[in-house]
Amino acid sequence: MDDLTEGVARFRRDVYPARAGLFAELASTHRPRTLFIGCSDARVVPELITQSEPGELFVIRTAGNLVPAHAPGPDGVAASVEYAVAVLDVSEIVVCGHSGCGAMTALAERHDLSGAPAVADWLRHADASRARTTGETGARAVEALVRENVRAQMANLATHPSVARALAARTVTLHGWVFDIRTGAVAELDATGRAAALTA
Ligand code: ZN
Repeated sequence: MDDLTEGVARFRRDVYPARAGLFAELASTHRPRTLFIGCSDARVVPELITQSEPGELFVIRTAGNLVPAHAPGPDGVAASVEYAVAVLDVSEIVVCGHSGCGAMTALAERHDLSGAPAVADWLRHADASRARTTGETGARAVEALVRENVRAQMANLATHPSVARALAARTVTLHGWVFDIRTGAVAELDATGRAAALTA
């Protein structure tokens, strides 16, 4: 906890003053252009990877960057997606998977999750992704599942009415990314699931 307290003190002392104007503006405006959906993994930091300033990314992070398909009933992820798309009018949605994902590794290697039943239940949202990658083995199985899972979540997103509406009106664009922790590289997935280096 001391680390966090010291971090807050450093932020107030060394970082905030240079951005005081930005924060003053942000105090009364919230107009992010991008909904960024990433994994909760501590090594995958959306603002760092994309060099975004406060106010630019609306972020949802879940274990395995999973977005359940639309279903009736209260759902925190669905509510955040809807708010970003229907209320904030984001124009880009990025689903970002990553190398060495614990959730995808547990699925690909069929880890025993009986001690973490909520995790096991949650990862059921990746069942279809796993079913499509059963031919791969070892590290390639995890890599293939990470990519397939990003594509599956893009499809799941499109089942949310707010996203479906925005896609039909061409006011939003969906992107699938995979971040490599070791190299820092980001690959963009094409429609067939092949990965190509993201270029500016
Ligand atoms: Zn992960």
